[in-house]
Order: sequence, then C-alpha cells, then structure tokens
Amino acid sequence: MIILKSKREIEKIRKSCRVVAEILARLAEEIVPGVTTWDLTQMSEEWATRLGAVPAFKGYHGFPHALCTSVNEEVVHGIPSRERTVKEGDIISIDFGVVIDGYYGDAALTVAVGRVSDEASRLCEATRESLHQGIAQARVGNRLSDISHAIQAHVEARNFSVVREFVGHGIGRELHESPQIPNYGPPGRGAKLKAGMVLAIEPMINQGGPEVEVLEDRWTAVTLDRSLSAHFEHTIAITDNGPDILSVA
Ligand code: MG
Repeated sequence: MIILKSKREIEKIRKSCRVVAEILARLAEEIVPGVTTWDLTQMSEEWATRLGAVPAFKGYHGFPHALCTSVNEEVVHGIPSRERTVKEGDIISIDFGVVIDGYYGDAALTVAVGRVSDEASRLCEATRESLHQGIAQARVGNRLSDISHAIQAHVEARNFSVVREFVGHGIGRELHESPQIPNYGPPGRGAKLKAGMVLAIEPMINQGGPEVEVLEDRWTAVTLDRSLSAHFEHTIAITDNGPDILSVA
C-alpha cells in the first residue's frame, strides 16, 4: 500500500530532506584527493547531530555508518573505511539519510574528485540528467513506470546501463516504504500517481554492463565487470502542481 502524505507531513519530510541536501553539499566540498571515506561519514554524523537530525542509515539492517560511500566501480552501499582514501580521477557516490521528528529524508549524489576522465564525467552527467527525466514524469495521472522508463531511455541512449537489483522507494515515516521504483521498464505500468505520494527516486547507472555483485562485506555492491557506476537520488513529493523536489538545501 502506498501511504499518501498530508501537506503537513510533506513539510516534515522536507525538513529532513533539507538537512540531507545541506550535508551532501558540504560533503561535496570536502571531497578532494586525500580525504578518506571515514572522514566523510564522521563529518556527516557530526553535522547531522548539530542540525538536530538523527542519521538514518547507521544501524539500519546492521549498516555500520551514517553515510554510504561508493567509489568508482562500487554501485551503492559502500562502507566508509579509514583505509579508503579517495584520489584524483575517482568518482564517489555519497548517499545520506536522516530522520527528524519521525519523518525521513534521503538523497545521494556522485562527485568527481579533481579531474576525471571524459567518460566518467559523461556517466555522472547522464545519471544526474536521468534522475531529472524521471522526476519530470512524477505527475498526477501518470503511472509509476513512466518514471522508470524515462530514466532507462535517457541513459541507454547514451550507451550506459541501468542497475536492476536496486530500486527507488516510497519514504515517510519509514526510510523504505512502498512502492518500489525500478529504473527501467516499459511506460504506463504500475500504480497511478497521486498527489501526496512521496518518492525517493535513485538511478544507479553503469558505464559497462548492468550486472552487479555484492562483496564479501555483504553490503558493497560493485559492477560485475568493474566498470564505473554513478548514483543520484532526490526525495520528491507529487503535488497537483507537479513534482516538488524536497531534497534541496
Ligand atoms: Mg534511497
């Protein structure tokens, strides 16, 4: 069942999402050669606490940290480590969520470390654009898979591929609610979109093939062919006036 949110609830989710967006923006400025993924998660946790928010991922199904840090071929759910130093030419996805007063916010972005290859920046750009193509379909009267299809069409036209194993999701009083939102599929399928739906849309896009595997740490998902992967996510609310992106600072 997809839980519709009242305007009051959407404002509570927006409050959490704004904190997430602000912290992601500040983290992006800290991502320079030499920073460790450990440093990044420490900062995210400290800033969240200072802003009156509780990090949502730490302890979620046993995830050990506040921030997911996924470098290069890592797709999602990378675990921060003191040993993982980012270097010039890397791309790193940072995925963060908080809860304030019982309502969750969730967003992610992929950051280039210094100068990266043209292919890496094309991948990041296509992934970010595909998120916005998907969001543009989050309109009353459309169906859920219109979002999915718009994302897939955008990235496949650029010869990138869509990860199948991980999907976007509803969000509100839970971090992950119904519906699941795949980033691929034919248009015109699934639930009819209604005002009051709040969705975390999050394309994960690979440079090479779509297949992924999970490493022995049981969290880190990587591309099977070890090609690069990028990830962008916004939490949005569907309103009678179109999609409202909540995860902006
Ligand atoms: Mg999410």
